[in-house]
Amino acid sequence: MRNTDLPSDFIREIVDEDVKAGKNEGKVVTRFPPEPNGYLHIGHAKSICLNFGVASEYQGGICHLRFDDTNPCAEEERYVESIREDVKWLGFDWQGNLFFASDYFDKLYEFAVELIKKGKAFVCDLSSDQIREYRGSPPAPGRESPYRDRSIEENLALFERMRRGEFDEGERVLRAKIDMASSNIHMRDPVIYRILKVSHHRTADKWKVYPMYDFAHCLSDAVEGITHSICTLEFEVHRPLYEWILAQLDVPCHPRQIEFARLNLSYTVMSKRKLLELVNGGVVAGWDDPRMPTLAGMRRRGFTPASIRNFCSRIGVTKYDGMTDVALLEHSAREDLNKSAERRMAVLNPLRLVITNYPEDATEEVEAVNNPEAPEAGTRRVPFSRVLYIEQDDFMEEPPKKFHRLYPGNEVRLKYAYIVKCTDVVKDESGRVIEVRCTYDPETRSGGAGAARKVKGTIHWVSAAHAFDTQVRLYDRLFTVEDPTDTEGDWKEFLNPESLEVLETCKLEPALSGAAAGERVQFERVGYFCVDAVDSSPGRPVFNRIVSLKDRWAKLAGKR
Ligand code: ATP
Ligand code: MG
Repeated sequence: MRNTDLPSDFIREIVDEDVKAGKNEGKVVTRFPPEPNGYLHIGHAKSICLNFGVASEYQGGICHLRFDDTNPCAEEERYVESIREDVKWLGFDWQGNLFFASDYFDKLYEFAVELIKKGKAFVCDLSSDQIREYRGSPPAPGRESPYRDRSIEENLALFERMRRGEFDEGERVLRAKIDMASSNIHMRDPVIYRILKVSHHRTADKWKVYPMYDFAHCLSDAVEGITHSICTLEFEVHRPLYEWILAQLDVPCHPRQIEFARLNLSYTVMSKRKLLELVNGGVVAGWDDPRMPTLAGMRRRGFTPASIRNFCSRIGVTKYDGMTDVALLEHSAREDLNKSAERRMAVLNPLRLVITNYPEDATEEVEAVNNPEAPEAGTRRVPFSRVLYIEQDDFMEEPPKKFHRLYPGNEVRLKYAYIVKCTDVVKDESGRVIEVRCTYDPETRSGGAGAARKVKGTIHWVSAAHAFDTQVRLYDRLFTVEDPTDTEGDWKEFLNPESLEVLETCKLEPALSGAAAGERVQFERVGYFCVDAVDSSPGRPVFNRIVSLKDRWAKLAGKR
């Protein structure tokens, strides 16, 4: 029985009832069934968390990973590998239950033969255009195919010849014989097998006929003993066909299909076809470009698996289609990183600051807190000297009211160090400030006797002589509108030209030079960053911004 303290939803309620009623001997078996025709995205994460999550909440519950590889045209082995890696990375385990629909090609063929023998399937010679035309559109009934009443013997012989490759693609198909007048178009003698002379990533050239999704899916579920076949809403209209196929055949179990609303996320696209278009068009640097909503992209950008799981549990599972605000995903990332990421100082747009009354060649070390949310993370020593870098944004020559950072005559605290006062600026020929001059108050060192003196602003810094230079990439939304596919015109017109900003002259605290690929830190006052696993080299980590510190979601939530 499921622990009643766990959060529930309508799917878990259905599963609970089935278990209580003793259906399937009380077992719960789910599956996550990706087609290996692209990388997984955050929408798939919702399905993974749901399927693996539900199974894990029951004694002995299991979730299969099944590759739905019935369309050899778009499927590739490298996608199989990436999907396995992504599911594991998210933190789930199929416990050896790894399957491929292509493992069942022989069985599926036998099932099709059985349907023919029962007079429930026929070989049709209509072209695909004709089939569409004959099908019609509800409420008007469709027309029956002239080949519908072929004898069982003829159908068996033709289907066998289709299998042997005697016909060309499109010349013939196998169709279920159901009801051309059905109000459900999927029940109007749907195609269940087609000829494809395409090599398959696992069965190579063995097959010339391939089962259609609707035929393969329900039977794969039944063969594997799936108890609850959870899928997205667009399959609701396919459910009668799912039921029909299982009812005609002698199958080991009859899974229950349950539909839920897919995840739509604002400011991105989620269909694999569109994502592939971005990859092939060179709009992004690949499936794992940190701007992509793919799990590979999000991993490279620095999202933690826990933050994605938390996001999925927050959005919940419903029957209503909607758009989820990407700010909620970013909020989940911050929430997790706030606890786990150590703080470091980094200046992204450097401005020189010289402390004129600080000894020329002296260096001292100040003590910096690694993570105020996790005292056990301890402290570190950060070098401080006469010449520093601060953010350009933290200085204004002519500040507006309420600007509490540095400007001529004003004082700020340099985080973990001293209070400084701006006395002067140095400009280049164009009048741009290229250096800020300050004096410091030696009595005000953090942790010292004069530390209590308060000023309104605190800014971060790095020591110029000790900093190391590297590249930092700031990522923003891939699109400028919430739903690029819901607008007139080409969705690619709404790509955000500023989705990537590369900063080449960033100055980082020396401790960061040793950061390893995948390491996540908070740059104080700036955001959360992750060492890029592809473009970094030893001693020169390159950083990706995961999220900024500004939490639009928390603000929105606060206003409600
Ligand atoms: P896409 O539309 O992105 O190409 P798909 O549905 O064709 O996705 P599959 O590989 O067939 O991709 O999906 C595997 C499983 O993930 C299916 O059960 C599918 O319903 C589910 N899934 C796909 N996209 C989403 C989504 N956005 N939200 C929730 N579940 C999803
Ligand atoms: Mg699909």
